[in-house]
Formats: sequence, structure tokens, C-alpha cells
Amino acid sequence: MDAATEAPNFAELRAAMVREQLMARNITDQRVLDAMGRLERERFVPEAYQAHAYADCPLPIGEGQTISQPYIVAYMLQLLALRGTERVLEIGTGSGYQTALLCLLAAEVVSIERLATLSAQAAERLAALRFTNFHLIVGDGWLGAPQFAPYQAITVGAAAPCIPTPLVAQLAEGGRLVIPVRSHTNPEEQTLVYVQRTRWRLRTKKLCGVRFVPLISERAAGTQNN
Ligand code: SAH
Repeated sequence: MDAATEAPNFAELRAAMVREQLMARNITDQRVLDAMGRLERERFVPEAYQAHAYADCPLPIGEGQTISQPYIVAYMLQLLALRGTERVLEIGTGSGYQTALLCLLAAEVVSIERLATLSAQAAERLAALRFTNFHLIVGDGWLGAPQFAPYQAITVGAAAPCIPTPLVAQLAEGGRLVIPVRSHTNPEEQTLVYVQRTRWRLRTKKLCGVRFVPLISERAAGTQNN
């Protein structure tokens, strides 16, 4: 067998991922399905894992971090209910995969990553794909990016000890925030939380158990037991 016949058929694997991991599990937002059916996830994983780019699990991306399972990415994107006009804030750029999806689904994306090496790699990948509607920031996502606020949607890709106040403050009226929150009693336990800001109040809904890498922040450290 030569290399060409051994190479995985990524287009086929991608279509199967959309069908079997997303549609079969009730991802119904057609814009999310289209974006994930189009974006080459294999570009966002290290070479050693490329053959597994469409596997139904998270994968290592270096620095002890992971690219999330495709289903959880789709589920969180669907919750944000993007229509293409929004300014979105992402915490935890990681590989840049979800950043690229947000570039397809929203008008403008601001993404914060605390690790400069991951941010630089993500910047290269996004530029290679000719996306231009994003700003990558190296820093502590706990604080958000008030210079670009307000955001119609905010998504956090690392588990926080509680909902960061600065992020809620940067939500537009009607804006949605999706964030994994760690349990105070059992650090292994995390819940995905959905927050919607209306004119008068915040509507908060606990959704399901999840497993993310921790959000690392000096600001967050003091809030562990709040
Ligand atoms: N959605 C990403 C996966 C992100 S993994 C993807 O598609 O690849 C979570 C990322 O959050 C990691 O890269 C980690 O370095 C980053 N992170 C953790 N704490 C952070 C913080 N306080 N601010 C910004 N990024 C943070």
C-alpha cells in the first residue's frame, strides 16, 4: 500500500461525525451542522492524532490541554443560537478549532488564551484558512475583554470555580453565556451552565455534567468557596 491509499478520507470521516455524533444526538441547528461539516478538524490536532481527528472524544493538543469532543462543541454552539450578526467572546482558544467555527457562525470573534504558544499556533491555523473576523488575546479570560464588549454570546472552554462576574458584566442584553462550573464539594464534578441576560435579570440554567480542563486564573483562586 502506498501512502495515498493509507491516508484517512477526512471528508468521509467528517460527514460521518456530523451524522453519527451530532445529528443522531439531537444537534438540529443547521448552521452548526453545516459549519462542522465544512471545517477541517484535522488541521487543528497535532500530527500524531490526525487519524483520530473525528473521533468521539477529546484529544491532546499539547501543554496538557485538549481539543473538546466534537459533540460538546456542537452542543455549546447550538446553545449560543448564533445567526451570523453577533460579536462573540471565547475563553480558552486552545487549538483554535472552535474559534474557527465561531468565525463561520458569527460576525466577529474575540478569543482569549492564557498560553501564548497555543494562541500563536491557533493564529497560524486561522490565517491559513483565511479567516479575518477574529482577535486573539493572550491573557486571563476570567477578566473577559471589556474593550470589545458587549457580547451577544460568550463561551468558556475550561471549568471555572464559579461564574466570573466580569463575563456577566460584558454580556449584551439578551446575550447568552455557556460555561462549565466546578462543584465546590467534588472538584471532579462539573456542570454546564447557561446564563441569559435579559433587561431586568439573569436567567441561569444548569444543563448537564461535563468534563473540561480547569480554568486557571489568579482571580478565580480567591472565589473557590464563594
Ligand atoms: N475549545 C478549545 C479547547 C480549549 S481547552 C479547542 O477547540 O481546542 C481549554 C483552554 O483554556 C486551554 O487551552 C487552556 O490553556 C485555556 N485556559 C485555561 N484557563 C484560562 C484562562 N483563565 N484564560 C484563558 N484561557 C484559559
